[in-house]
Amino acid sequence: MQYNDSIDDSRKYLRLALEMIGKCGLATDPLNYCLWYEYVSGRNEPLNAAVDRHLQSSSAFSEEISRLLYHQHLTNDKGTTLILGELKRVFAEIIGAIKTTDQHFSQADNNLEGIHDSLVPNLSDADVKMIVDQIKHEIKELESTTGFFKDQLQQATHEVEQLKNKMARYRDEAIKDPLTRIDNRRGFDKKMNEAIAKANAEGTTLCLIMADIDHFKKVNDTHGHLVGDNVLRMVASTITSTIKGKDLAARIGGEEFAILLPDTPFDGAIQLAENMRFSFDRLDLKKKNTGESLGKITLSFGVATYIKNEIAEDFVNRADEALYQSKRTGRNKVTGL
Ligand code: GH3
Ligand code: MG
Ligand code: MG
Repeated sequence: MQYNDSIDDSRKYLRLALEMIGKCGLATDPLNYCLWYEYVSGRNEPLNAAVDRHLQSSSAFSEEISRLLYHQHLTNDKGTTLILGELKRVFAEIIGAIKTTDQHFSQADNNLEGIHDSLVPNLSDADVKMIVDQIKHEIKELESTTGFFKDQLQQATHEVEQLKNKMARYRDEAIKDPLTRIDNRRGFDKKMNEAIAKANAEGTTLCLIMADIDHFKKVNDTHGHLVGDNVLRMVASTITSTIKGKDLAARIGGEEFAILLPDTPFDGAIQLAENMRFSFDRLDLKKKNTGESLGKITLSFGVATYIKNEIAEDFVNRADEALYQSKRTGRNKVTGL
């Protein structure tokens, strides 16, 4: 997290955050302060949408919800910090092993020097035998020291390998939406930039579909947020099952999804959006526990094709504009621009 707010702004956010903490009856601890500072400054759209949903719902805002939101929306650096701590520990272990090995080698060096000095002419058989035994002993010591060092290095290599995997998992988590398990806004932005770079470099086509659930607020109001959450999961999995290969589906807002289609012509993207719309039109969703029908869940779609060298924002805006045209002209539609 990075904050570059002016002193005046930060004071204003402090006051507003404390007000919200008081209003919700929460403890004034650093975690809550961080969450509400972020909220009142309005810099984290998904966090604000999630907090607003909880504020609008009839149940009280608890410490548990606060912690959950904090971990879902504000702890992307957590993984890196943990890994760094663990890497430092492994590093300290390696340095410790080097130091111990070094001490053992110095000791062996001294001992061998002593033996060397005792190699004088006319040694008795007993002296020679004793010297040979001493040399054997030193060689054994050196072998066990190098064996210890090798074990330590092997263990460190294994731990670093595990940390590398852990890091990859954290990185993956940071771009995933916890509710639907598809990419979140951050994942979408990253892949969109990569796709744009490729389309510009190779002159390939790239299309974007924006999709938004129609009248989703009514689903929540009628059946509750938990059912609403299940509908979001179902929408994500239906979208995912319609796409393939290099295509990417992401949840970029509360009930808004983006589907990025590399190497796809405009007509193909329109057709795909129509297929998705049709899949939802056909579904008859029922509540898990009662079997009560949820009625039709429909989505509106907007499709845009990338124009060479345009910035991501303009591309997204055109797809958004197409989506809102679908909304304005009756919903449950596909519009291409
Ligand atoms: P429109 O057809 O114009 O898109 O209407 P809408 O009701 O879908 O749009 P509106 O923007 O008015 O409301 C969006 C709703 O989506 C409000 C919010 O409660 C709900 N929502 C957003 N994110 C989540 C979520 O994670 N879970 C649940 N259950 N609801 C969510
Ligand atoms: Mg909607
Ligand atoms: Mg919306």
